[in-house]
Order: sequence, then structure tokens, then C-alpha cells
Amino acid sequence: MIPVILALVFPAIIGAAVALAYYGYRYAVAASVRSKASLMEGNQQLANLLVEQVQDRIDKADAELFEEVEWNEASAEPPGKVDLPAGVESVALLDAGLKIRSLYPAPDAAHRRRELDRWQSYVKGLEWKSLQPWTPDQPGNFRHLHQLFEGKSVLIAYAAKKTADHHEYYVAAKLDLTLMAKEWIPEEMDVVTGKRRVVILDEVARAVYGEPQPPTPFQYEASFGKTLYAWRIQITPRNVAELRAQAETERLLGVLLVPVSTVIIVVGLAVVWLSVRAERRASQMKSDFIANVSHELKTPLSLIRMFGELLATGKHKGEPMAREYGGIITRESERLAHLIDNVLDFARLERGKASYSFTEGQLEEVVERALDVFRHRLEKERVRLRTEIEPHLPPVRMDEDAMTLVLLNLVDNAVKYGGDAGEVSVQLRRAPGAVALVVSDHGSGIAPEEQRRIFERFYRATSARTRNVRGSGIGLSLVKYIAEAHGGRVEVESAPGRGSTFTVYVPVAPVMTPAPEERAAS
Ligand code: ADP
Repeated sequence: MIPVILALVFPAIIGAAVALAYYGYRYAVAASVRSKASLMEGNQQLANLLVEQVQDRIDKADAELFEEVEWNEASAEPPGKVDLPAGVESVALLDAGLKIRSLYPAPDAAHRRRELDRWQSYVKGLEWKSLQPWTPDQPGNFRHLHQLFEGKSVLIAYAAKKTADHHEYYVAAKLDLTLMAKEWIPEEMDVVTGKRRVVILDEVARAVYGEPQPPTPFQYEASFGKTLYAWRIQITPRNVAELRAQAETERLLGVLLVPVSTVIIVVGLAVVWLSVRAERRASQMKSDFIANVSHELKTPLSLIRMFGELLATGKHKGEPMAREYGGIITRESERLAHLIDNVLDFARLERGKASYSFTEGQLEEVVERALDVFRHRLEKERVRLRTEIEPHLPPVRMDEDAMTLVLLNLVDNAVKYGGDAGEVSVQLRRAPGAVALVVSDHGSGIAPEEQRRIFERFYRATSARTRNVRGSGIGLSLVKYIAEAHGGRVEVESAPGRGSTFTVYVPVAPVMTPAPEERAAS
């Protein structure tokens, strides 16, 4: 049931996560586009404002000029002198036949020819015919030409007018671009630029105002209005580096969002799946354990009961047989006691209540005592026990009962899985910083891939299960736990068919140097 639910739920979660990440990414991209758009909009508004302000000043100068220049009668000469408003450099007055009749301020005789020629080239390109006559109540009725003449930027404002006797004449004014670049534009710009840099470039991209900026994605550029249309205005945010970094972060976030969140979710799901699997395995093992333990309890109990009854009812032939029955009962009750010890210890360990009382002692004494108890059973099972104890072993810190349990479990396994060879060896020898307890047999051995797992609780190797050897799968987990609680470790060396060797290392007890006063007392 659970796998089915997981199989349905996992793809749904992954799908939802991917969809979420995808829409998150789309949203981030849209937000970044929006913020760039609003930045650009701000740039554009600022540009429009600046252009308009400069334009207004030019228009005002133009309107003043066109009002000022007045030719009353076409038959009479044009006025000799005109006051030019600020911003107007020079003015030409042309008659209906587009002939230049007068220049203001009047050039001196030496330069007159050249000035006339220059004006001639200015007025050549002007579109007079499309103009409505200029009147003070319609002051917008004039046009501009903004162009390079002999490599210099020139702005001409021009309008058509009528004399009092209804003859057309024309006025063209050359505006003072130097004054504009040096005064008008800075005056308008400096007030409003704030967080942005404004640059005005001329026809050949020279800066008329401000410092040229390298192009960035946040730069706005447009023509500098309808009067100075040959120039361009460029607006760049001052904090480009910051904006760039922000855009880069957003981009990275967008790019990483999908894979990272998917990976996190997949890893999370894998963890859930693994823990569910481990939990299922553990519960399967627990039920196997209960079955194994009950089975293990039942066998010696029924033997004890059977032979006990035989003794009680006197259904045996003579003394030797009675002794043998008694021997069986003793052996089986030993086995039972051992199993119960194991289970109780294991239960304490599982509840986290295992506590040991460590004392300093000789491991060989504990081993010999335990083997004495075991020897009887080994003789009955026709197992030869070889012991090899190195002399003068250093003392160790140990819990004697726990170490007895370790030895009994290892020897019990060596007998159980030792096969027909019938020989078990127990060795005690020195190892660096420890005393090594080595138990080996010549039995079936353990496959390499199972050697790590046999120390897990409830784990029983395949060969043990198939060959129906009795067991509960907790013995080696206890051995490992006890060894580690003593600050030591357990190792196995085994090859299938060639027997197994288990080695438990118990650290040597630290040498206590007596305090100076103690030494003096002794
Ligand atoms: P069990 O009660 O099954 O003996 P243990 O925890 O003592 O449980 O051992 C775990 C498993 O390790 C056993 O089921 C067996 O497969 C394997 N094993 C332990 N000792 C030996 C050995 N001396 N030779 C071969 N296999 C062994």
C-alpha cells in the first residue's frame, strides 16, 4: 500500500515543485524586465523634461526676435538696426524673392562678402514656402534647421512675415549654440539630474554637455528635441554597477532556481523513501526476531521437559542414562539462560539503558572462567576447543559480565557455524594499546558483502537462514556494542568455505601514576 501511495505522491510532488520553480523563474524574469522598463521610462521622462526646458528658452528667444524684427513697407529699406535678444547670434532679413536684404548686426565692410556667402548657404536649405506668416498671437509659427556647416553645428530659426502693405518677407536667425552649451543647458540640467548622468552629444558624437558614458543596458538615448534635433541626449543611471550586479543576481537566481529547488526536493524525497524502506526492513526484521526467539526458546524447553519427564517417571535404563538425561537438561538450560541473557541485554541496549560497571582486571581470567562453563557443552557437541593465551597480558578496563557475553556469543557462533571441522580456537594476545580476543572456526565463512551487515541488529546471513541454523540475529550486534562501549572495536576476517575469525580489541587500562604523597606513604 505504502509503495503505491509513494509512487503516486512522489511524481505529484516533483511535478508541483518543477512547476513552482518554473513559474517562479518566469515571474523573476518578468519582474526584472518590468524594473528595467520602469527605469527606462524614468530616463525617458527626464530626457523629455530637459529637452522641453531648453526648447522653451529657445522658443522664447525666437519669439522675441521675430517680434523685434519689423519691416514696415516693402518699398522702403529694411530697418537699419535691430536689438537681438540673448541667444541670437545674428539675423538675416530676406525679401519676397528670397534675396538677403540686410544682416544684423551689420558686418563691417571687410567681412560683408563672406558673411553674405555664409548666410546664402544657410538659407538655401530652408523650406520657406511651407510656413504660415508669423504673428505675435501665433508665436509658434516658425521652423528650425539644425545642421553642420563647414564642420560646425549651426541652428537657424526662420519665419515668414508680412509688411504692413502685405508683402511677404523672411527672417532667419542664427542661434548662439555656444551660449546654449555653456549656459542654458547646464542651468537646466544641473537642477534635475540627481541619480542620473546626462550627456548631450553633437552631430559627430562629441560631448556638448557632460562626460561621455560607455554604453550600458540601462542607457537611454534620444534626439535632443525638435529644435536641436541633430544632437542627442543620453541618460545613464549613476549606480550602473549596482544595477548590473542586481540584474546579474536576478539572472543567476532565475537560472539556479529550477535545478537547485528540484535537486533539494528530489534529495528530500529520496531521504523519505530511504527512511520508509529502512523502517519497513526494521519492522520485518523485528518480526523475524520474535519468531526466531520464540523458536529458540521452545526447542530447549521441550527438550528439558521431555527429559525431565523421563527422569520423573523413571522411564530410563539405569544410572548412566539418568546422568545423560541430566546432562542434556543442564546443557539445554544453559543455552536457555544464555539466550535470555542475550535478549535482556539487547532489550536494555535498545531502550538506551545499557550501563556497564568497569573495573580493571585481567581479561584472561574472565575468558578462562567463561570457557570452563562452556567446555561441558563443547565436549558434548564434539567440538575441540583450542586456547592460546599469551602470558603477561596487561590489565584492561572492562565489565566482566559484558565481556563474558561477548566471548559466549562468539564461541556460540563458532560452534553453530563452524561446520563439521569441529574445532574452535580462542586466542588472547597483545595488540597495540589493546588486548585482542580472537575467536576462529573452520566453518562456512561469511560472504564479503555480508561481513559489514552481520553486526546490524536482527541481521542473519543468507547461509544461516537457508541452512536453518538457529539464531536470533542479535548476538553480533551486542558484541559490537559492548566492544565500542569499552572503547574498542570488533573485526571480522572471513572467506566463504574457509572459516571466520572474529577479533575484539579491548583497550589496555591506563597506567595510573600515584600522586606524590601516595608514593611517599607507600
Ligand atoms: P545469530 O543469532 O543468527 O547467530 P548473530 O548476530 O550472532 O546472530 O550473527 C549474525 C549472523 O552472522 C549469523 O546469522 C550468521 O549468518 C553470521 N555469523 C556469525 N558468526 C559466524 C561464524 N562464526 N561463521 C559464519 N557466519 C557467522
